Amino acid sequence: MRVVGLHPDVLVITSRIWQTTCTIVRRGEECFVIDSPVLPDELDVLPAVLERAGFPFTGLLATHADWDHLLARLAFPGAALGVAETTSARLAAEPGAAARELRSFDDEHYVDRDTPLSLGQVQALPVPGHCAIGDEELELHPADGHTADGMAIWIGWARTLVCGDYLSPVEIPWISESGSRDGYLATLRRLEALVESASHVVPGHGEVLDGVRAAAILREDVNYLAKLPDAELPLARRGAAQRAIHAANIERVRASRKAV
Ligand SMILES: [Zn+2]
Repeated sequence: MRVVGLHPDVLVITSRIWQTTCTIVRRGEECFVIDSPVLPDELDVLPAVLERAGFPFTGLLATHADWDHLLARLAFPGAALGVAETTSARLAAEPGAAARELRSFDDEHYVDRDTPLSLGQVQALPVPGHCAIGDEELELHPADGHTADGMAIWIGWARTLVCGDYLSPVEIPWISESGSRDGYLATLRRLEALVESASHVVPGHGEVLDGVRAAAILREDVNYLAKLPDAELPLARRGAAQRAIHAANIERVRASRKAV
């Protein structure tokens, strides 16, 4: 697990599995943990990381409802989880899905975990909208297309964009079962202006990017999506896992064409 400080008020933790990111943002006496690392030891040390940094924990936020981003409650039992209204609707429509998927991941990889995942109190946040933190606000922007739900979070005073599963340097655009190419492209267009003024972009998977590199990935991803099903994989993202996602994307785009 890697911990990187982007700003006096922003830390990013990167999980050893899938390079899943967890962003910790503080303002004054408040601090939110956005998304989560995946492995038990990484979750175990989260409270100590906050304490050592002097970040007073307030609550949890998640960019979207995919299970690998929802695990921070294992580190902060009892905390409320703030999500976009779209994510809250998805969690309500598939109760227990995250806990089940976590269990099957743990089974497959022989991971031991003391407690099962319970999401507890989920608070639906209006998106687009704001979430107050200290004397500042986090800006919430709709981010769907990878899945049917989600939000990107703009930390204005740190010029940092936490975008969920978009703009990843390690994962190609993934149109999952509930996602759509049009939604994905619309989200990338929305994120473009934020990326232009960002010092740091934190993708859901992979290392933190500066604005210039994120803009280059954004252009590459628009190009990839626009050319599906005939698109070629971006040069730096064509390993076996990416080829499998690519094959699924092709199916998805063909199926949605047939449905029209
Ligand atoms: Zn993800």
